[in-house]
Amino acid sequence: MGPPGSGKGTRAKIIGKMYDIPVITTGDMLREAFARGTEHGKVADAYMRKGELVPDEIVIAIVEERLRQPDIESGFILDGFPRSVRQAVALDRILKGQSKTIDTVLNVVAKPETIINRLSLRRSCPRCGAVYHLKDMPPKEDGVCDECGGPLIQREDDKEEIIRHRFDVYERRTFPILELYESSGKIKEISGDLEIDEIPKALEEILGKPDP
Ligand code: AMP
Repeated sequence: MGPPGSGKGTRAKIIGKMYDIPVITTGDMLREAFARGTEHGKVADAYMRKGELVPDEIVIAIVEERLRQPDIESGFILDGFPRSVRQAVALDRILKGQSKTIDTVLNVVAKPETIINRLSLRRSCPRCGAVYHLKDMPPKEDGVCDECGGPLIQREDDKEEIIRHRFDVYERRTFPILELYESSGKIKEISGDLEIDEIPKALEEILGKPDP
């Protein structure tokens, strides 16, 4: 959990590597669905451009399908899901059906200046989903993805007007989920202001040491 630009995606990717579990990133899955030209992808794109949440039915269907894959059996991390109370309720239903539970809800808390700096300097690769920061994590070659050689772009929804709206949507639709999880005692806070090389240690303190 965490507002746009708080550092959810970066932390999720590091968790995936450290604990060797799949990272399920709904934003990336929706962008991929659009790139493949699927019906869900086309509908999703219209919402994403405006900074609105994609309708729950679509996102829930995509996540439900993903959670049927066998690679999640020894754990997984969800990045950007759930983002509405309805999604949280659906997740609960899906996991119950598989006799699984959420271990931890990581809440990423960042200073406003960190978020503004991060979103304005973020560049992404639409081809493979890699994410860069022009100052802190620049690509080796200007405008070119280190991973796949694709061209880097500023996401349409990382532009100022849309970011503002994404914040409102977070406050209104996503923040209330924290209240839902509050009583479970599963919410753990992690700072969104850490330098990238400080993140693994912070995660270890919260989630425990990965198996050797
Ligand atoms: P992100 O890459 O996580 O910042 O997500 C980018 C956009 O994808 C969001 O602004 C939404 O339009 C859409 N999106 C991602 N995850 C969800 C979700 N769980 N529910 C609804 N829309 C989502």
